[in-house]
Amino acid sequence: MILETQTNLITDLKVNQLFGPDSKYTYKEYIEQAVQSVCSFLNNEKFYSGEPASNLKSKGSLLVSDPNIQLSIEETLEEIKALYLDHAIAFHHPTYVAHLNCPVLLPAIVGDLIASSVNTAIETWDQSTSATLIEQEMIRWICSEMSLPSASDGVFTSGGTQSNFMALLMARDHYAFKHFGLNLKESGWADVVSKFRFFCSEKAHFSIKKNAALIGMGYHAVISVPTDDKMKMKSDALVQAIEKEKQSGNIPIAIIATAGTTDFGSFDPLETIAKVAKEYDVWFHVDGAYGGSYILTETHQHLLRGIERADSVTIDFHKTMFQPVCSSAFLVRDTKHFKYVSYYADYLNPLEHRDSTYPNLIEKSIQTTRRFDALKLWFTLKMTGAKTIGSFLEKVHYLALDVYHSIKDDVDFEIAHKPELSTIVFRYVSPGIAADAIHNTINLNIKNTLFKSGQASVASTKLDGRIYLKFTLLNPKSTLDDLLNIIQMIKDTGKKYKIHN
Ligand SMILES: *Cc1c(COP(=O)(O)O)cnc(C)c1O
Repeated sequence: MILETQTNLITDLKVNQLFGPDSKYTYKEYIEQAVQSVCSFLNNEKFYSGEPASNLKSKGSLLVSDPNIQLSIEETLEEIKALYLDHAIAFHHPTYVAHLNCPVLLPAIVGDLIASSVNTAIETWDQSTSATLIEQEMIRWICSEMSLPSASDGVFTSGGTQSNFMALLMARDHYAFKHFGLNLKESGWADVVSKFRFFCSEKAHFSIKKNAALIGMGYHAVISVPTDDKMKMKSDALVQAIEKEKQSGNIPIAIIATAGTTDFGSFDPLETIAKVAKEYDVWFHVDGAYGGSYILTETHQHLLRGIERADSVTIDFHKTMFQPVCSSAFLVRDTKHFKYVSYYADYLNPLEHRDSTYPNLIEKSIQTTRRFDALKLWFTLKMTGAKTIGSFLEKVHYLALDVYHSIKDDVDFEIAHKPELSTIVFRYVSPGIAADAIHNTINLNIKNTLFKSGQASVASTKLDGRIYLKFTLLNPKSTLDDLLNIIQMIKDTGKKYKIHN
């Protein structure tokens, strides 16, 4: 008896933490307090506290030591402030110019909060109802921006990596089916598949190779095509590579063009590549994880011409549409091709109950339980609008150009390319030093010193074996002065390094 009463008591106290009508006030209180904590994060002066990893590790192990001690919301937020919010990387900060992380739009955050609270699972109609329609609407919107045909379709994914995975899988299974009558989804493998080859530029994202490995074909199934001095795939080299593979008995099945390479923001010549793909009767995928959103701009639309001829497209809203992670899509020219990933599970979407009035998005996804990530984008289109996003993207492109013009005649720098999108790759060069190894060390030192001190987060990459620094500009609120300030820090750090050594 006594035991039972005690159990009830504990449940009574904690039951208010479950989302429901009787916890409305607790919900509001928690969210309001959490919002206050996030506001304190916005007060952080630097993009990062600069606290060394060893300190963070020791803090972390203290804070999660006993999962059976329950704290109040105030205490918990206090702890998470010390452990995380005080040290989290602030992507909105003007000194953060490292990776493809954007500041996020407030309407998108509202969408995310609603999606998390209601916790819709988007995979079947009976778990999502109108949320399914909203995702489809967002897909239809982006397909039409890209002028894909009316049979086109798509699905939200966890990111560009997953979208590219679907592209490679679909391209392979479609080729195997169309040309060899093979149903790889059922049979799993056929010897001829080991001859299939994908073509992409040498500047394509690593997920192409990684995904080729994940679908069992290995890195060697991906042929890297050389790029020109603007980091764009050379179309004559593409044709040569295809011919060469054919001569050695291999079978070209797909070309992956990049619209906005991760490092250089360069656009492969989509229209020409589309023609080559048609000529060789192979799948044409466009990886627009970074540059796809530029379809909303006036400055870059022409670089995306040809995307309307793609068999499939990757686009990352969490990179260039100011959405919180995850928000991304995989688009396909013909909705029929989703048959290569669809599965009919008795407990979710039995084939015999298939009914187009009640669509089950699971039939297009490689995930099962899936977040309602489309809601963020819906809020964004409603409240911010496509034109504004386009103008944000134009702004960050012009910022990259401004940095380029500001440093191009500076003897302290060597620039790798003229920005086509919103990245700029360059390196600091010390006068009188010829050896690349020393330049490499100095540039890495600059990057690490600036990061560790919390002064600025700059990325690095390699070009022809040399280490370069990279700015990825995704914050339309940044000014040229903000960026020149980082340039000055780079110079100062580079100069100091010489003195110490
Ligand atoms: C970032 C990127 C990817 C991978 O996208 P994720 O969302 O990080 O998985 C793929 N392709 C290109 C060109 C990218 O820039």
